[in-house]
This record gives sequence, C-alpha cells and structure tokens, in this order.
Amino acid sequence: MPPSPAPAAPLVVALDGPAGSGKSTLARDLARELRWPFLDTGAMYRALTVVALDRGVGADDAAGLARLAQRIDLRYDPATGRVWVDGVELTGRIRTPEVNAAVSRVAEIRAVRAVMRGHQQRCAAQAGRMVAEGRDMGTAVFPDAALKVYVDASPEERVRRRVEEMRSKDPSVDAAAVAESIESRDEQDAGREEDPLRPAPGSVPWPPADAQRVARGDPGGLPAARALILDTTTLAPGEVLAAVLALVRSALPPAAPR
Ligand code: C5P
Repeated sequence: MPPSPAPAAPLVVALDGPAGSGKSTLARDLARELRWPFLDTGAMYRALTVVALDRGVGADDAAGLARLAQRIDLRYDPATGRVWVDGVELTGRIRTPEVNAAVSRVAEIRAVRAVMRGHQQRCAAQAGRMVAEGRDMGTAVFPDAALKVYVDASPEERVRRRVEEMRSKDPSVDAAAVAESIESRDEQDAGREEDPLRPAPGSVPWPPADAQRVARGDPGGLPAARALILDTTTLAPGEVLAAVLALVRSALPPAAPR
C-alpha cells in the first residue's frame, strides 16, 4: 500500500500577550465568529498547577513538576475550553489566586513546556484549524501560523480591565493585589529563559488608528504583514474583534473556512 500522505499543517491564528491585554476575550470571540476551535493554552498550564498544588509538588521542584506533567492525562476540549486531569474536571479551579501565584513558576520549566507544546500541537493537528492563545503561540508552538498577533495594552489599562472583570464576580476584589499579581506574572513570563513572552520575530506594529478604520469597515487600514503588534489600550473590545476578524479573513488562503 502506498504510504498515506502526511497530514496538512493546521491553519492557526496565534494570539500572544500579557495578562489583561484582552487576548483571551479576543481569542474566544474570534473563534466564535469564525466557528473555529479555540486553544486556551493558559488553561493547560493552570490545570497542571492545580494538580501540583493538590499533590504537594512545590513550584521549586522542577524535576517533580516535569514528572507530573509527563504522567498526568491532560484533556482539553477546544469546543468549550474545559480541562480535565486524569478524568477529573478542573475548569472551575484554574483561576484562583493560589493558581495565579504559582502558575508562572510551573510554566518556566523547560520539560513542562515541552509536554505542553506536544499537547497543543496535537490539539491543533486534530482540529485542522485553531485560534490559539497564550504566551508563545507565535514564537515557539506554531511558528508557521497563518497570522500572529501580539496583543498588548498599557499596564494601567490591563489592571483596570482585570479588576473590572473580577469585580463583576466579586465586588470586594482588591485592585492593588490584582496589580501586583499581574506585574509579577508579567515579569516572570517575559523574563524566563524558555519561550519568554514576546512578539514573534519580524512583528510590526499595527497602528490602533488603522485597526479602528478596519473595524469601521474601511480596508485601508489592513496591514500586509502577517506578524503584528496591536496596542489595544485605546480600543474597545468590539473594535479589536472587528479589526482582527477582517484581518484574519484577508490573510487566510482562499479555500480556508472563514
Ligand atoms: O493566559 P493565562 O493567564 O491563563 O496563563 C497563565 C500562565 O500560564 C501565564 O502567566 C504563563 O505563566 C503561563 N503560560 C505560558 N505559556 C502559554 C500560556 C500560558 O507560559 N502559552
């Protein structure tokens, strides 16, 4: 029998950026509009962190964390963003202050990242197309992504958004504690040796005023580059979605589902 052809590379839109930049909202909305699966890679690192905390594997025990990452059965559902470890759903436990405080230490371990990268690439290969969101989508996990957007916003705006989001669930949320948690995670994520948070090589800024034009239906603001940095500080979530959606539709190969 002739060998079966190698599977086509998945079509990926890669979104990276720091905490509170709006990339998660954008990724979910984009996936919904395109009817594409959605890969929340932070949820995977968070699920591993929950299990490490439950089993008493410390954030400074790199070898123990690597073993744990290799042994657990981690499942992620790209249709819903739910996560399970060894058959137990952890979705409701991954966004606690304890996990926020520990996750970046877990995520800096090279062997942990290698395991996660494997999960993420398999997920995309199975789905065939994916909106993937994280810190290293465009730089390490999907270097051949059709489009890479590094979503950013000023530190003050990122804290403001995160506080607003958290206060809708718990009005007593302390803004100073949120600011400290975001700042410390940013420092660790951008400062680590393995797959640090940064724009993909060759990325160029997409001026927010141009993105706004595109959001209003004027294609004159569409960039030709396929690796971009978008500062969303002055943009409303609806503008970011409309602009990036138009960009994705303009960037995909003609036969791609859009
Ligand atoms: O995106 P989210 O805030 O849920 O990510 C939680 C943490 O997981 C990040 O602060 C980072 O330390 C880690 N992470 C990562 N690489 C990714 C996604 C998340 O290191 N691709």
